[in-house]
Amino acid sequence: MVVQQSLVIIKPDGLVKSLTGNIITALSETKLKIVGAKILKVSRELAEKHYEHLKSKPFFNELIDYIMGKYHTDRVLALVYHGEEAINKIREICGATNPEEASPISIRGKYGRINSKTKVFENVIHASDTEENAKREIQLWFSPSELTEIIYPIKTEFLTSPKLVWA
Ligand code: UDP
Ligand code: MG
Repeated sequence: MVVQQSLVIIKPDGLVKSLTGNIITALSETKLKIVGAKILKVSRELAEKHYEHLKSKPFFNELIDYIMGKYHTDRVLALVYHGEEAINKIREICGATNPEEASPISIRGKYGRINSKTKVFENVIHASDTEENAKREIQLWFSPSELTEIIYPIKTEFLTSPKLVWA
């Protein structure tokens, strides 16, 4: 049994369909620990980096529009799960990428659809598929200070860039 991390994203269709509670409840079966969570608007830069492995696919532009919220709402909920066999435990509960092929009791099988216009698999959730991708994705979506555990090596940098504070 190996301790792993997984980046989970409740995609814009998941939020619009009010599925946050259902999805987090389904994932709680795994007994994994949530070590990071935030709601955010996905920039084009973040979307394109996240899906860079799909750049040559015919559905890439529609996929970027989908994750940026063009078809639903312009926000997603990003979560980091941590614990034994996190990647496969979560992928199992999510189900297959194509919601029509996903097990009917999986999250994607229950709540996903194929958009008949764009052909995009609107499958309500993202979950990391390998340890290598989990590391790349978590480091892309979260800074170390946003996580409650030090899951990857960190270093201190002294920066003087401006930041927003409460007025
Ligand atoms: N996708 C799609 N059509 C495809 C394959 C993928 O619309 O033929 C979308 C779908 O939303 C999927 C995302 O692109 O979740 C990322 O694809 P990937 O192959 O990484 O699948 P995942 O890891 O999400 O199961
Ligand atoms: Mg993937």
